[in-house]
Amino acid sequence: MTIRVGVIGTGMIGSDHVARLSSQVVGSTVTAVFDVATERAQQVAGSVGATAHATWDALVAADDVDAVLIASPGELHPDQAIACIAAGKPVLCEKPIATTTAEAQRVLEAEVAAGRKLVTVGFMRRYDVGYVDVKHAMTDGTIGEPLLAHAMHRNASVPDSFRGEMSMTDSVVHEFDTFRWLFDSEIAAITVLPVKKSPLGSPELRDPQIVIFDMAGGEVVTVESFVNCQYGYDVRCEIVGSLGTVSLDNPRTTIVIGGNGRGEKVPADWRERFGPAYINELQAWVGALASGQAVHAGAATTWDGYAATAIAEAAVTSYAKGARVDIDLVEKPALYA
Ligand code: NAP
Repeated sequence: MTIRVGVIGTGMIGSDHVARLSSQVVGSTVTAVFDVATERAQQVAGSVGATAHATWDALVAADDVDAVLIASPGELHPDQAIACIAAGKPVLCEKPIATTTAEAQRVLEAEVAAGRKLVTVGFMRRYDVGYVDVKHAMTDGTIGEPLLAHAMHRNASVPDSFRGEMSMTDSVVHEFDTFRWLFDSEIAAITVLPVKKSPLGSPELRDPQIVIFDMAGGEVVTVESFVNCQYGYDVRCEIVGSLGTVSLDNPRTTIVIGGNGRGEKVPADWRERFGPAYINELQAWVGALASGQAVHAGAATTWDGYAATAIAEAAVTSYAKGARVDIDLVEKPALYA
């Protein structure tokens, strides 16, 4: 069975996903695309033999679309995801599910009212082999009881329009989902601490920063966020347990020797570092859809998307106040138990 996917948003990640679904994922084809940038949409549609629709609602309603992938700007995700729920079509929504907690709650309520899970949120680290190994080591007893974690999230650079609080909503948001998933626990409170500012980057950019997660189970996670580190994309973590530790480095094995040095290449950006994880994510989604499952076990659900947005909102408050902020989630609906 081939899953016919419609893709809303053919910008950077949307066009990458179209290419993956068309040529790298087994069991899927892209039959429809939509983007307000009509020329780009037509060009992407033409490259895979899909229809470029005039509106995103027309794409959602199209008979030759079995499932929808949303890769438009984040503030559009709630309306588009809710339209997919109303049409009874499974959707893979790129993060974030919404840019405000209230909007995320609206998607949650729509899905609960529909009575079945249809939305998967695109937190691709859950499909990265390195992070999957970390989770295994945390659950198979190897490191004993996980107690705390250290993580770093460094990007080479960001545009001048990027502000310090965007580190929380655009970058550290991946850490929110990662550590909720790894510890299988909610984040109860969050603290964002400023650090001596890098002399590089725009004068308004507060960077780097330290973010502390107090997990509901008592574990503590410290994350260094540094969005203008200059040298590349560097995402790492270490979990400390009662019997040992598990750490994830940059997954590279190529050693280059020359110029009086011996070294490893650092990925340039997230597209290079997590390319295989996106393919795994799409393959898991398409494979589950082919077997009649709209949202597969282990996928980030609307609840996970809602939680990540609520934590990001609390992190922005902590950033502004310089104080620890508690995270108050609504009661978890039974649908996500
Ligand atoms: P992007 O390059 O700006 O692409 C977004 C596209 O959507 C643009 O072509 C934009 O057109 C278009 N668009 C604007 N309004 C639209 C509408 N009403 N309906 C449909 N499309 C519309 O952004 P991106 O980097 O691909 O990011 C897209 C989403 O993916 C964001 O939510 C982002 O957070 C997420 N993302 C996730 C990851 C990840 O690691 N999981 C990585 C990157 C991005 P214009 O350019 O004309 O506005």
